[in-house]
Amino acid sequence: MRKHFLFCGPSGSGKTSVVHYLLAQFPFMRFSVSATTRTKRHNEVDGQDYYFLSVEEFQKKIDEGAFIEWEQVYEGRYYGTLHSEIERIEAMNCSVIFDVDVEGGMTIKKCFGDNLLTVFIRPPSVDDLRQRLIARSTETAESLKKRLDKSVFELGFEKHFDNVIVNSDLEEACKKAKLLVEKFLGTDSSK
Ligand code: 5GP
Repeated sequence: MRKHFLFCGPSGSGKTSVVHYLLAQFPFMRFSVSATTRTKRHNEVDGQDYYFLSVEEFQKKIDEGAFIEWEQVYEGRYYGTLHSEIERIEAMNCSVIFDVDVEGGMTIKKCFGDNLLTVFIRPPSVDDLRQRLIARSTETAESLKKRLDKSVFELGFEKHFDNVIVNSDLEEACKKAKLLVEKFLGTDSSK
């Protein structure tokens, strides 16, 4: 069975940056493009960052059994991993890299077992996370509060992951993630 990669961590932990770094390093990896009902950010591309759906379209996919997992990550905002994404990536003979919330991550872990590397990325502190989310300026005061509350909840899931990276320096975190991938694949050049 092919090996796949799961990266979880609170919003603002830097996990998406780490995932993009790994995608650039490992040509055999492909990003699992999730479906979501949240609004598109100005720098995002439909079909590349997410499949942006209306709540009705998302509900239809739930009814059709199209998702491996889906969660209401924030109130009224749904996110889900599509079976068709895994099929699309495996058909290319590539490995899937997932960037999902911790609860979705737990479901994916059950599906792939030992063939999945699970990595939790966390900030050095909640205060640090708050500063990062403010600096990103994608949030209103209300959504910032929701994200911080959710982050505190997510930090409690760390123990369910095989590996934890504390992201106090993005470059260092990326290097550590790369090493974990190489070790998991058995291609660790530092051995
Ligand atoms: P954002 O709105 O910042 O892009 O993502 C918010 C959260 O939703 C992040 O923790 C992200 O990893 C998570 N997320 C993205 N896609 C999925 C998915 O398919 N399923 C689940 N459960 N969470 C997802």
